[in-house]
Amino acid sequence: MALIVQKFGGSSVANAERVMHVAETITDTYKAGNDVVVVVSAQGDTTDDLIDKANEINPKASKREMDMLLTAGEQISIALLAMAIEKIGCPVISLLGWQAGFETNNAYGAARIKTVRTERLRAELDKRKIVIVAGFQGLNAAQDMTTLGRGGSDTSAVALAAALHADLCQIYTDVTGVYTADPRKIKNATKLTDITYDEMLELATLGAQVLNNRSVEMAKKYNVEVEVLSSMVKEPGTIVREVAKMEKMLIRGVTKDTDVARISVVGMKDVPGNAFKLFSSLAAKGINIDVILQSVGRDGTKDISFTCAKGNAEQVCALLENLFSNEGATVACDTSIAKVSIVGAGMQSHAGTASKMFGALYEAGINISMISTSEITVSVLIPKEYADKAVAAVHQAFFG
Ligand code: ADP
Ligand code: ASP
Ligand code: MG
Repeated sequence: MALIVQKFGGSSVANAERVMHVAETITDTYKAGNDVVVVVSAQGDTTDDLIDKANEINPKASKREMDMLLTAGEQISIALLAMAIEKIGCPVISLLGWQAGFETNNAYGAARIKTVRTERLRAELDKRKIVIVAGFQGLNAAQDMTTLGRGGSDTSAVALAAALHADLCQIYTDVTGVYTADPRKIKNATKLTDITYDEMLELATLGAQVLNNRSVEMAKKYNVEVEVLSSMVKEPGTIVREVAKMEKMLIRGVTKDTDVARISVVGMKDVPGNAFKLFSSLAAKGINIDVILQSVGRDGTKDISFTCAKGNAEQVCALLENLFSNEGATVACDTSIAKVSIVGAGMQSHAGTASKMFGALYEAGINISMISTSEITVSVLIPKEYADKAVAAVHQAFFG
């Protein structure tokens, strides 16, 4: 007998038929003698619909009230799924995040899980119940409900698997695993048998939606083996773990991220400390930045460009105008760009990986405006309208 955590995403529970199908997957696992803890997301587009409803009333609503609203989506799906399991005739209980012991920090909308108190979960499992937990949510020290950020149910599942020392964490979704590129966009993308935490973390951070990047971070930290698989098609998925069979693959995937803004500070003084002033002020606000480019100085001035999430752009621009306008610098924001990346540990030992990517983009007639690299990634900024074309061209170059 094993303890298995199973997570089902929004599309997997989008309607009554799918909820019943998921209930069967869960009860089959239970009837095989396992303890089962399930994490479920809000149905279909519920979270987006709730955000739209909020925007109709107050686009500047406080993050606290947004979390109060958004946590409702998962409350609906846990109850419906529990009802489906009752109908099949297995013992079941649904729990909200706080009932399942999720304690978070105070960052409404992007809360971090501090601990998962497992007493209640254990007590329910001891009664041989299937436990259905609302993903994406927890409770902060003020006893307010918080959410973990979009796609956060993956993180809820991995956190539960870590806290309960589960034998397996299965992330059921609407594709059959992690692919070399988004299988909905790239027809000849192939499914990976397995992938390392580091590679998956990069893919997730650089735009592959299939796993939330924080969930991968957590899986690596607590050494939770994760399987990504389909809730509709019965076949083995992709295993995310510390060491993957490399299958001699140079790169593991191509991905794009269109949630990027490029911020440029033009004409700042070319003196020591200005880069520090800029980036430390953003760090102090907890704003993540990515690809950075500094120009060669001219006439005592220099320019610095970098990327951040679109949602942060307005705040970043205001902050930088405040910091640098008195020295004559101007701040510009461009949201018409996309970041296209390749990821793979195999590139560490191969020269020419980056040039192969650039060659593919050149042949597709796509201009690169910024480049950044790490040990296992190469990312380029290109015009947003070419993002899909770029992914296809680069995927073709590496995977044929
Ligand atoms: P869920 O609702 O189950 O959390 P998501 O929509 O968050 O599902 O994630 C699954 C989607 O991720 C797939 O439908 C697919 O289009 C997309 N995706 C993007 N990149 C990849 C990739 N490399 N491999 C698999 N799926 C990917
Ligand atoms: N329902 C939340 C969202 O849509 C959390 C999740 O699905 O993981 O972002
Ligand atoms: Mg998701």
